[in-house]
Amino acid sequence: MSNLSSIQLLKKLVAFDTTSYKSNLELIMFVKNLLESAGISITLNFNPEQTKANLLASIGPKDQAGILLSGHTDVVPVEGQAWSTEPFHAVIKDDKIFGRGTADMKGFIACAIQAMLKAAQMPELAKPLHLCLSYDEEIGCIGVRGILGLLSELIIQPELCVIGEPTSMNIATGHKGKAVFKAICRGQEGHSALAPLYVNAIYCAQNVVEAITTTQKQIAEGPIVDMDYDVPYTTVHVGKIQGGKALNIVPNECVLDYEIRNVAEQDTESVQAKIFEYIEQSPYAKFVSFQEINQYPGLNTSTTIQAVKFLQNLLDPATALQKISFGTEGGLFHQQLNSAVLVCGPGSIQVAHKPDEYIEISQMQQCDAFFERLLSHIKR
Ligand SMILES: [Zn+2]
Repeated sequence: MSNLSSIQLLKKLVAFDTTSYKSNLELIMFVKNLLESAGISITLNFNPEQTKANLLASIGPKDQAGILLSGHTDVVPVEGQAWSTEPFHAVIKDDKIFGRGTADMKGFIACAIQAMLKAAQMPELAKPLHLCLSYDEEIGCIGVRGILGLLSELIIQPELCVIGEPTSMNIATGHKGKAVFKAICRGQEGHSALAPLYVNAIYCAQNVVEAITTTQKQIAEGPIVDMDYDVPYTTVHVGKIQGGKALNIVPNECVLDYEIRNVAEQDTESVQAKIFEYIEQSPYAKFVSFQEINQYPGLNTSTTIQAVKFLQNLLDPATALQKISFGTEGGLFHQQLNSAVLVCGPGSIQVAHKPDEYIEISQMQQCDAFFERLLSHIKR
């Protein structure tokens, strides 16, 4: 077994540059070797290009429902960010560990690996403990989809899945779903001196923006709200627009990227329908086409189920329940396995995706302590 502490292990994990557009295989092979040397069985699941992999590690009785821990191995890019430390070389300063992915979410992964290694030392487990590590979460929960189908073949439906995204070790029972689209506006190229004779793709895109902002206004007026969220309703947002080549050419193409983040009570289709309805009424309707880029479901775990009480007891019975503003793979896990899914992990989302991302050492300790209690629960 490894003699590394969770913090030493976190430093090793940070040193693998697993930015989403790069391979995560070195990290995956490192974890695989570490766990296999402790006698834990591993399944890898590769992407079609064989450049990235999901990992599933399991220990304990195969015929029992257990606990599944889940985390993503990829991190967001550091390019263009002003870091005061080397992002892929974790350093400890003022009781914090700085480095890309420390909070989101290699801190959790390090503690979870330690928990697996400790479980391997225990004489016998009453229930299995599983660890699932995915790739390409940051670009739309892409990678984990490859292993979800396999999971239901390999393991008994877990009693509980813990997604270790940074919640400062609070329990999140829900988050919004998300769907990402492109609106492609096609106009007609022409000399700008004759502009009124042609269809301007940017004007067409402007109509799509109006459709989106009008839809947002309608949704904000209700009645579908979930007051557990900072923004208590479904949001629609345009994040990128690209069109035009030169001032003296009527643009023939303009592309918009937009997203819908929906509360559980409102599906993205009904929001799309509102956007379409607005556009249908304009002369630009026939010049726009839509493409769905990706989507993941929201998470809406009931706060009254046994799994919530169970997790609260392993943390601190007074641990507050919350809903989080960011998405996770939790909705997909729930959809595939129909297990109770909760989000709970060390570190704060406030520092994630930013330069000088860090995790407090006390958060790592809290997470280690949580796993200690989890292990005493699953020992026979
Ligand atoms: Zn994350």
